[in-house]
Amino acid sequence: MKSIHLLGATGSIGEQTLDVLANHPEEFKLVSLAYGRNTATALPYIEKFQPELISVQGTETAHELRGLLTYHPEIVTGKEGLIAVAEAGSPGDILVNAVMGSVGLPPTLKAMESGKDIAIANKETLVTAGHIVTELQRKYGVKLIPVDSEHSAIYQCLHGDAKEVEKLILTASGGSFRDKARKDLQGVTVKEALNHPNWSMGAKITVDSATMMNKGLEVIEAHWLFGVDYDDIDVVLHKESIVHSMVEYVDGSILAHLGTPDMRVPIQYALTQPSRLAIPGSRRLKLWEAGALHFEKMDYERFRALKLAIQAGREGGSAPAVLNAANEQAVAMFLEDRIRFLEIDEFVERALEEHETLTAPSLEEILEIDQKTRSSVADYSR
Ligand code: NDP
Ligand code: MG
Repeated sequence: MKSIHLLGATGSIGEQTLDVLANHPEEFKLVSLAYGRNTATALPYIEKFQPELISVQGTETAHELRGLLTYHPEIVTGKEGLIAVAEAGSPGDILVNAVMGSVGLPPTLKAMESGKDIAIANKETLVTAGHIVTELQRKYGVKLIPVDSEHSAIYQCLHGDAKEVEKLILTASGGSFRDKARKDLQGVTVKEALNHPNWSMGAKITVDSATMMNKGLEVIEAHWLFGVDYDDIDVVLHKESIVHSMVEYVDGSILAHLGTPDMRVPIQYALTQPSRLAIPGSRRLKLWEAGALHFEKMDYERFRALKLAIQAGREGGSAPAVLNAANEQAVAMFLEDRIRFLEIDEFVERALEEHETLTAPSLEEILEIDQKTRSSVADYSR
C-alpha cells in the first residue's frame, strides 16, 4: 500500500489522480490533500478518502469545510498549509504535485527534503527552479517522476546508456489555434482559446497550449528531468496527440509511446512505475480508429512563445523564472479579458528583455523575481 499526498486535488490533474486512487483502493492510501477554494468539488472526495490532513487556500474556506465534514481531520491554510502537506507522512511516500503555477515550488522542495518521491505535474516548478530541484533530488536520493504525458512517454522510452540518446522529440498538438495564421490571432476570444481539440485540461494550461508556451515550458522541463542539452530536444507538430513523445537513438531508431489522450494513464504510471496496472478495454487505443498519424516541422515564428521559452531555457539562471512568472500573469489577465491573446507573447518578451539574468538564483531570489515580474507585467496593460 503506497501513501499518497496530493496538491491541487480539485484541478483537472487532481481529480484524475483521485479517480486513479479510487480505482485501486488496495494499492493506494490518500493521507493528505490540498486544494484552493473549490470546496464543492473537494467535499465528496474528502468524505470518500477521509485524509488526515487537508490544506486550503484561506481561513474562510477552512471554516466552510469544517462546517460540512462528518469527521475531524486537521485543516491548515495558505502557503504554510501546502508545506504541511508536503512534510506530512513518512519518507518513501509519494507527493503528487498538481497545483497550477510557481506556488508549487516551495512545497516540492520541502517534500524532497522529507524524503518523498515527487510525481510532478506542476511543470512551473521545474521551469522556475530546475537547478535547485535537481540538486535536492541528488542530495536526498528521491525520485522525480514525470506526470506530463510527453515526459512520461520519454521516461518510458529511455533505455540503456545516456550517451546513446541522440534526441528527445516532444510532440505538440498545436492547441486551439493550430490551423490559424499568426495574423488571424488578433481578435481571438477566451472562449475560443479554451476550446482545445484533443485534451480537456485546466484553463491556464489550455491557453498555454494555444500560444505554444506549454511546449516551451515542457522543453525546459525535459532539460531538467532528463539532463539533456537544449540542442538535443526537438519539437514536432502532431495533431492527433496519439504519439505522446519519442526518443531517437544514435543508430537512428526512434522509440515512441502511443496511447489515447487520457492523463489518468501517465498519472497512474507515475504512481506505480516501473510496474503497471491494467485499465479497461474501453479506454485503450484502437489503432485502426486512430487511422493516419501526421507529423510536421515546427514553425518557431508562428509559435513565438515556444521560441522565447527555448531562448530563456538556454540562457538559464533566472531567465526561465521570469518567463514563467510573466506568462502566468499575462495568461491570468487574458483569462479575465483584460489583454488580447497576442499580448501574452509580447508581455513575456518585454519582461525577459527588461530582466538582468542572475546565474544561479537561490530560492529566495527566485520567489522575489517571480513577484516582481508579476507586478511589472500587470503594469504593462495600464
Ligand atoms: P487546474 O487549474 O485544473 O487546477 C489547479 C489546482 O491547483 C486546483 O486544485 C486549485 O484549487 C489548486 N490551486 C491553485 N492555486 C492554489 C493555491 N495558491 N493554493 C492551493 N491550491 C491552489 O490545473 P491543471 O490540473 O490543469 O494543472 C495542474 C498542473 O499540472 C499545472 O502545472 C499544469 O501545467 C500541469 N499539467 C496539467 C495537465 C492537464 O491535463 N490538465 C497535463 C500536464 C501537466 P481550487 O480550484 O480549489 O482553487
Ligand atoms: Mg504535456
